[in-house]
Amino acid sequence: MNKRDYYEVLGVSKDADEKEIKSAFRRLAKKYHPDVSKEPNAAEKFKEAQEAYAVLSDEQKRRQYDQFGHAAFDQMNGGRGFDFSDFDFSDIFSDLFGSSFGGAFSNFAGFGGNKSSNRTRATRGSDKIMTVNLDFDDAVYGCKKIINLDVYDECSECHGKGGKGEKTCATCHGNGTITSEQSTLFGTFMTRTTCPNCKGKGRTFESICSKCRGTGKVKQNKDIEVKIPAGVDTGTQLRLSGKGDSGTNGGPNGDLYLEFKVREHPIFERDGNDVYLELPITITDAVLGCKKEIPTLYGNVKLSIDAGANTGDKHRLKGKGIENLRTGSKGNMYVIINVVIPNKLDRKQKKLFEELNDTDLKTSDFKKIEEYLRRNK
Ligand SMILES: [Zn+2]
Ligand SMILES: [Zn+2]
Repeated sequence: MNKRDYYEVLGVSKDADEKEIKSAFRRLAKKYHPDVSKEPNAAEKFKEAQEAYAVLSDEQKRRQYDQFGHAAFDQMNGGRGFDFSDFDFSDIFSDLFGSSFGGAFSNFAGFGGNKSSNRTRATRGSDKIMTVNLDFDDAVYGCKKIINLDVYDECSECHGKGGKGEKTCATCHGNGTITSEQSTLFGTFMTRTTCPNCKGKGRTFESICSKCRGTGKVKQNKDIEVKIPAGVDTGTQLRLSGKGDSGTNGGPNGDLYLEFKVREHPIFERDGNDVYLELPITITDAVLGCKKEIPTLYGNVKLSIDAGANTGDKHRLKGKGIENLRTGSKGNMYVIINVVIPNKLDRKQKKLFEELNDTDLKTSDFKKIEEYLRRNK
């Protein structure tokens, strides 16, 4: 099946901001919501828009989508595209269709099933992203790092329930919803709204857990050791499965993404998996040729520079670059020659240069210019 591009679905440009994306989705929701739309294929169109909005309105997911397209979510949902069933659209729908309308949509399958069961259903915790600064060498060779982070774990006092003495909610008799008649812009609806007493859970507590204040989660500050593979670069993301926020109602934890920022090296410059070194040499080294000891990422080597070297000459040291994260093969090192012309000479040096000047040092290129001058007198 050929899935449409999410930006195309919402009819926005690739660099649309949060506001544009939200208003594009509101427009489509109003047009295609199956409870109000008379358009053919409204349900599919609505679902498509929901999926696109759930991804593009989330900074992290949008970035993944921009990088990998639909493939970013293929593994998550058995290849059926991004699973938006946990996404909370209620704020958009309620301000579009009236405050209690969110509940009315719970009967619609495309919205992700029954809202009351949604509230108590196992939900995956959120993903987190964290920037990690690395020294050049640590990025090149790989390293172990202690990362300190806040994670939300299930409360040990109430085991994530949020309270003690669980009982059936007296307001909704355990249904989690209250049914009422609602007049809206589109006519009268029987609306089912989330129970305000138990917030849709259908159950309440005799006492709220004091440790987590009823949230079922507690913030924990943890040090974790992370092995960072050789070859990461600025912008590389490393996913630590299950190190994000804890899930609710027994759902799995979210993931933690580490995004690296690599500091500059005093002499090496990195370009992908290649590394560059600018090598200044004297004018006599350039003219006569020389051997120079130079550093590489893997120890010092002797580099032979032939007589007649020029600024910009490029020497390739095969395989002395940085390891490719995926393939493990190494890039190259390039040494770029920079012939430094002295701007201060002592008396002896000056004399030697003057003697040199009396010899015929003219280049064939300059002879061409001389000839041109002669002919155009
Ligand atoms: Zn608790
Ligand atoms: Zn209730």
